[in-house]
Amino acid sequence: MSIVDTPERRQLRELTRAFVTREVLPHLADWERAGEVPRELHATAAKLGLLGIGFPESVGGSGGDLLDSILVTEEIIRSGGSSGLVAALFTHGIALPHMVAAAGGQSGGLLRGRLGGGQLRGDDDLVDRYVRPTLAGTMIGALAITEPDGGSDVAAIRTTARRDGDHYVVNGSKTYITSGVRADFVTTAVCTDFPGSGELSLLVIDKGTPGFTVGRRLEKLGWHCSDTAELSFVDVRVPVTNRIGEENTGFLAIMQHFAAERLSLATQAYATAQRCVELASRWCRDRTTFGRPLASRQLIRHRLAEMHTRAEAARAYVHEVAARVAAGEPVVTEVAMAKNVAVAACDQVVDQALQLHGGFGYLRDAEVERHYRDARILGIGGGTTEIMNEIIAKGMGL
Ligand SMILES: Cc1cc2nc3c(=O)[nH]c(=O)nc-3n(C[C@H](O)[C@H](O)[C@H](O)COP(=O)(O)OP(=O)(O)OC[C@H]3O[C@@H](n4cnc5c(N)ncnc54)[C@H](O)[C@@H]3O)c2cc1C
Repeated sequence: MSIVDTPERRQLRELTRAFVTREVLPHLADWERAGEVPRELHATAAKLGLLGIGFPESVGGSGGDLLDSILVTEEIIRSGGSSGLVAALFTHGIALPHMVAAAGGQSGGLLRGRLGGGQLRGDDDLVDRYVRPTLAGTMIGALAITEPDGGSDVAAIRTTARRDGDHYVVNGSKTYITSGVRADFVTTAVCTDFPGSGELSLLVIDKGTPGFTVGRRLEKLGWHCSDTAELSFVDVRVPVTNRIGEENTGFLAIMQHFAAERLSLATQAYATAQRCVELASRWCRDRTTFGRPLASRQLIRHRLAEMHTRAEAARAYVHEVAARVAAGEPVVTEVAMAKNVAVAACDQVVDQALQLHGGFGYLRDAEVERHYRDARILGIGGGTTEIMNEIIAKGMGL
């Protein structure tokens, strides 16, 4: 029995599946064309309690831990949704946790203790102004770390925030920001010392603040229903009360929350693989060539068996690592390995699944075509495969 297979979680799985069937599947192709999901979807997901999964009730969440969040992500994709939909609808999973943690709460079962320590003055206020409305589906948030000069080297961030009385003055730019077009606020990593010093802080910056402009909507290979933007900051005045935690604790906060983001991406990877195994199996049962169903041929059955094995092995490992993270174990290396294992499984499986669909697999009408395109980002976002290997090598003492 899977560790996520409890009676409560089976209910959560059914709720998620019903949500996808009723609210997503009839519209997903339109959202892919439009380049974004509608705001109403956030409100609907919030009413069902899905948006708040993994966030404590004390900040407006639905409770539950990292495994519950993983289960919802898995079920969205296995019910015919997509990793792009998860990225668009659950961007708050990366935009909010720093605020929740700084206010003394925990999200996703991940955080123990407070960043910056002690009673934090502004952070309860940030919870009221940003966390609660976002989990209620009335606001959209984004997380901006990556800059045009580079994303892998987080410490090298060049967007600066200079203190001027009770404000910071922010200058710089960010790119590839998920939900950046629609976001009402952006949790922004800024350098609060000289550029490249690694002294980072997190500021919540409201859309509409003078000097903050959202650039063009970036066109992408996949994740079409997830809007992605460039952001520019020119002398943007941000109140000090919009800082998350203490000054210069941003790098630590970003690193701590990478675990949840990476496990979410790992989940998107193995769930996409599982969905593609199902799609390919169905296709191979139905498709006849040379007078026999494809699935009657040993070569095809073995290929499907190998795809299924890869997806299941990745799922088991991601669940094990997630359970250890939720229990508070410091498993940074294992999180990196889980992401790479799941992404490798996904890459192989989506490629094979498309191949088994023949020419139809290459068409926009084929669901497998969308997964093939969407999957390519999973080894890039949240830390690339190469950066995960660096972490693993370090963990090996190399
Ligand atoms: C669709 C999409 C959504 C995204 N959403 C967000 C978001 O919401 N917020 C956000 O902040 N960012 C977001 N990103 C950015 C993403 O996190 C970065 O693209 C990623 O971290 C890699 O950074 P980079 O693109 O600057 O590549 P670079 O850091 O320039 O790396 C380029 C290549 O070099 C490799 N490399 C780099 N350093 C090393 C090294 N030391 N050793 C070996 N190889 C190395 C990398 O693995 C990669 O293959 C998104 C990106 C995309 C495409």
